[in-house]
Amino acid sequence: MSTDGQAVVAAVRRVADRIESERDHLTDLDSAIGDADHGGNMARGWARAVEAVEDLDDPDPATVVKTAGKTLMSEVGGASGPLYGGSLVFASTELDEGITPESAIAFAETYLEKVTDRGDATVGDQTMVDALVPAVHTFKKSIETDELPPLEALAKAVDAAQRGVEFTVPIRASKGRASYLGWRSVGHQDPGATSTLFIMEALLAVAQESLDGDDFESVDATSPTIPDEEATGE
Ligand code: ADP
Ligand code: MG
Repeated sequence: MSTDGQAVVAAVRRVADRIESERDHLTDLDSAIGDADHGGNMARGWARAVEAVEDLDDPDPATVVKTAGKTLMSEVGGASGPLYGGSLVFASTELDEGITPESAIAFAETYLEKVTDRGDATVGDQTMVDALVPAVHTFKKSIETDELPPLEALAKAVDAAQRGVEFTVPIRASKGRASYLGWRSVGHQDPGATSTLFIMEALLAVAQESLDGDDFESVDATSPTIPDEEATGE
């Protein structure tokens, strides 16, 4: 378990680095349709989350995620603090038995469920839900129906989140601060959907580097023949 736990600590670090590097970008997006605090709040929250998870003694994955979530709840203000932090804390119990493709799907679904419970947003409201819904559904379908390895499923989920972010631009905000603008929110990319994409991209990057087939059961880097056969069949 401790190897998985350290991998999750590394993932939190990677997310924090990415959010820090996108701080001004997220601030600019939130300046256009909100109050310009999303970049600063997220960067501070994730930096504190790194400190908190690095202080844990030989943690398991669920404890790392729960600790990061609690830190985000207390450090990131606004709408997104409780949405990100509370949902991570709630979903962390899905990783109690470690990280497998099945537990990763359960984690993603529970996280999404908590975000929509708390925020009451659905697809088309110009929020982080617009990135999350396609990402979570794509991840689940890619593993359960298409039987892709988890890394490929995660890569497809990131693509879906990217399209979700693009989808926020031409629509009107119906939830959160941007909804006060009414039609003037049309034409703007949602900050929370964008930070959700950055987090997922960071998770994919760290997973690609660290998963060698030992931890994430069905990642199989040693049998190139299977994908080759499938590729020629198309
Ligand atoms: P605030 O709007 O309170 O300043 P942030 O700027 O940190 O909070 O976060 C804004 C983001 O939060 C939005 O871009 C949107 O993605 C997300 N958001 C706001 N309200 C909701 C909601 N009800 N459901 C889901 N996401 C929401
Ligand atoms: Mg804001």
